[in-house]
Amino acid sequence: MRSGTPLVCVLLLLGVVQGQSNCHAELIPLNKIASQNGLKMLSPNSFAANGAVFSFKEKSRTFTFNKILMPLGFPVVKRYFKTCIDSSDYEYHVRPLLSLGKQHHKKLKIIALDAGHGGEDDGTISPSNGLIEKVLTLDICIRVAKLLEKDGYAVVFTRQSDEKIPLKQRSQIANLSGADLFICIHFNSAPNLSAKGIETFILTPADQSSTYQKSSKTRSNSLTGNNFNDLNVILGYCLQSTIVGGLAAIDRGVKHERFTVLKTLKCPGALIECGFLSNASESEKIGSAAHRNKLAESIVRGIEKFDNLVR
Ligand SMILES: [Zn+2]
Repeated sequence: MRSGTPLVCVLLLLGVVQGQSNCHAELIPLNKIASQNGLKMLSPNSFAANGAVFSFKEKSRTFTFNKILMPLGFPVVKRYFKTCIDSSDYEYHVRPLLSLGKQHHKKLKIIALDAGHGGEDDGTISPSNGLIEKVLTLDICIRVAKLLEKDGYAVVFTRQSDEKIPLKQRSQIANLSGADLFICIHFNSAPNLSAKGIETFILTPADQSSTYQKSSKTRSNSLTGNNFNDLNVILGYCLQSTIVGGLAAIDRGVKHERFTVLKTLKCPGALIECGFLSNASESEKIGSAAHRNKLAESIVRGIEKFDNLVR
């Protein structure tokens, strides 16, 4: 079985909109992207932009940006000996990273922290040491909140005790509080007990397939959360890169899914899977307060990095 699929807690959160067919709208060769943006091709499959490297692989629905795995809606293809991506992938996933540092978003003030699960919903439970996901997610949110408040940010929690909050209500709490950013915390689980590492999820753009949809064929309307596509991509990259770097963890990539908690957000948002409780060695690490401190610090560094890049 492919490592990490299906992911138990991920699937519980999914609200997939899909159905009709949609094929490649238009293919753009990488060398055209490079020439239009004044960038240097490093190889037929990669180019450099402001010291950052974009690297693509034929037939893959991912690419790497500064070595961090990023999602695509459609597979990379070769046409007439040229490596090409779909025009929607350029628009949704590549262009925001090309214009990194040129966005003009307001400075973040209020950050909503969403501790996954709670109450009768335990989330996943580690088979090796019995750690319970709902306890860990709140623990991380409290550690992150303390650091953010020290930095001068205001924090809103979707829950601060062991209670079950419906998924739709979580994004409503963030919206009603005027949150500028939504960070949802989860821990992972997979039937393949060797699966480990970090994943950060952002909302799938309209008319694209989510990471765990096998086919590229989909039709979906734009959701409220899609108003922040550019910022979501940058947020996903910032969080994934600081957490993977901070913990020296395996990069399982920024992925995109239509999670209920991300659909109706009126601000950029991401859901972080902070490691696998199903993996004995990763679960042992997660059990240590020092590791959880490092994780919280890395999440806060990701938020600061995002805040600095988009201001
Ligand atoms: Zn979960």
